[in-house]
Amino acid sequence: MRLRLPTSVSEARQCLSEGAIPVGGATLVWAVWQRDGFPEQAVSLRNVPEATAVGDGVLGGAVLLHQVDDRVPEVLRTAAKGVGTGSVRRTATVGGNLAGSSLRDLLPAAIVLDAWAEVLTADGVDEVDLAELEAKAPVLLALRWREPVRGAYAKVADPAGGEVPTIVAAAVDTGGVLRVAVRERYEVSRGSAADGGDGVEELFAGALAGVSEAGRALVREQVARVTGA
Ligand SMILES: Cc1cc2nc3c(=O)[nH]c(=O)nc-3n(C[C@H](O)[C@H](O)[C@H](O)COP(=O)(O)OP(=O)(O)OC[C@H]3O[C@@H](n4cnc5c(N)ncnc54)[C@H](O)[C@@H]3O)c2cc1C
Repeated sequence: MRLRLPTSVSEARQCLSEGAIPVGGATLVWAVWQRDGFPEQAVSLRNVPEATAVGDGVLGGAVLLHQVDDRVPEVLRTAAKGVGTGSVRRTATVGGNLAGSSLRDLLPAAIVLDAWAEVLTADGVDEVDLAELEAKAPVLLALRWREPVRGAYAKVADPAGGEVPTIVAAAVDTGGVLRVAVRERYEVSRGSAADGGDGVEELFAGALAGVSEAGRALVREQVARVTGA
């Protein structure tokens, strides 16, 4: 396998157009490749400046999870700190987590930041929303958001005993809009309320109707943290 290391967006697009498979830290794909065979070529974005940026509302797709520090909002930082083990976080990337993993611990945090993604396309760089990132797993160059006022994130063992931990993320933006995202098993529910913490019970009647009682208790806790209620 030839590992290609472009140093610009245009070189990266060239590699992709020539059939190179995107790779982050290979924490997931290595075992698959060993089992099914290695691709002829792979491309890592680790030398592309746009994919390694951290801070000022940007987190590059090639940034390693252990590099996600206080240059990003607490909600995203806490999410990255909770992924797997220290050795996974030292190798796995933001892009691999958001586009390539089934757990995607960073996703609820990205949702409450109302984040969007810059992705590589055949024509250049496109901005897409998280729904498209989830559905199509395009090549993630960077995640972008506007700074929230406050955010909170909790990852706890599934109270029903399942293998996938429950995650609740909440954030309030500068306009007072509260956003909440809940992952139970592999399902992610999300909702927003214009009137901050007051709107959370209404969310349980609507966008978050599928969230369990234990999940709702966790939501109330995290919302109280971000609204100070
Ligand atoms: C022991 C262990 C524990 C784990 N625990 C958790 C956990 O608690 N929570 C959690 O969320 N995850 C967990 N994971 C998954 C972990 O997040 C992934 O291993 C990681 O996100 C994959 O990242 P990577 O950079 O190594 O991706 P790779 O293995 O390199 O790639 C994985 C997939 O992502 C694609 N990809 C890579 N980069 C990009 C990009 N920039 N844009 C688009 N696609 C891309 C690849 O083509 C491939 O299909 C765990 C993994 C391990 C091994």
